[in-house]
Amino acid sequence: NKTILLKNRPKGRPSTSDFAFIEEEKPAPKEGELLLKAKYVSVDPYLRGRMRDTKSYIEPFKLDEPVESGIVAEVIESNNSNFEKGDFVNGMLQWKQYQTSSGNGLNKVNKETAPLSAYLGVLGLTGITAYLGLEKIGNLKEGETLVVSGASGAVGSIVGQIGKIKGCNVIGIAGSDEKIKTIKDKFGFDEGINYKTTQDMSKALKKHCPDGIDVYFDNVGGEILDAVMNNINKYGRVINCGAISLYNESETPTGPRHEGTLIKKSVRMQGFTVRDFVKEFGPAISQLSTWLNEGKITFSETIVEGFDQIPQAFLDLFDGKNKGKMLVKVY
Ligand code: NDP
Repeated sequence: NKTILLKNRPKGRPSTSDFAFIEEEKPAPKEGELLLKAKYVSVDPYLRGRMRDTKSYIEPFKLDEPVESGIVAEVIESNNSNFEKGDFVNGMLQWKQYQTSSGNGLNKVNKETAPLSAYLGVLGLTGITAYLGLEKIGNLKEGETLVVSGASGAVGSIVGQIGKIKGCNVIGIAGSDEKIKTIKDKFGFDEGINYKTTQDMSKALKKHCPDGIDVYFDNVGGEILDAVMNNINKYGRVINCGAISLYNESETPTGPRHEGTLIKKSVRMQGFTVRDFVKEFGPAISQLSTWLNEGKITFSETIVEGFDQIPQAFLDLFDGKNKGKMLVKVY
């Protein structure tokens, strides 16, 4: 039974040497417990934050202890009347092939309704983040211009599609021409900008957003945020969802750089963590499922195979190797 521990607190960009594999006995479930076998493991940019020893909205990982993330697992044995052998569950679980659980915090998932992997993406935290970020903070109105960064990723690809459902002009920013083609052809974005080959992002945004930007869903922070702020409209809204371009930096520049624009243009910039809205996860999943069944949204996944690949799949997020939700399939 393999387990992955956090070995070091990464300095700058993490590497595989920051993780250690150990072999343990397969555990036996006690009274009231389940034995779970991991099926799909979610790797997410926010896990980088939990590798730092700093206080946040969620506890940091402990050194020499298992890393955890969203996992869909199969119930192999059950001593708990709420679950049966053969059920599939979704929850925050450890990077272990097999583990026991009391069942607390686990949700049953139905593989007839959607593929198991979807419960970690479009019908899981990333889909919910896209929906509730827009819903609670974006205040999107028909005809407005919505820009989203990380546009081909798990959150970004859903944000853009919801923007189209709401009747907006949607521009996505991503890191390759292939990703730009996908967000336009598969996800229906109006335009896309490859930030890696564009010299002047402010100018490119101006060209694609001739009426300015009303709502910016920010997944990356940094220079792209600067370029958006140069094009933001009066009463614009900036949804600070993530800042992956800064996650491996050890120093954060002091002071907000955009205060002048926020004041002059009456812009509202608001951060959030999706857990702020836990009570609304049910309705969010229900809306996303409806759109999925109606064919109004679709999704991409990058599924890497094999438990041993979990650390590398996580690292690959910082090189943009994923299209849509990055997952590891475990046998
Ligand atoms: P993604 O599927 O979007 O994967 C990460 C992507 O980020 C990569 O594919 C890459 O795409 C892009 N990226 C990597 N490095 C950089 C960089 N230096 N500059 C710009 N883009 C970069 O991940 P998620 O959809 O899971 O997460 C997206 C964002 O949302 C993250 O910032 C995450 O932390 C945040 N998040 C926030 C939540 C909340 O509650 N607030 C909940 C869930 C996620 P490319 O090829 O385009 O560079």
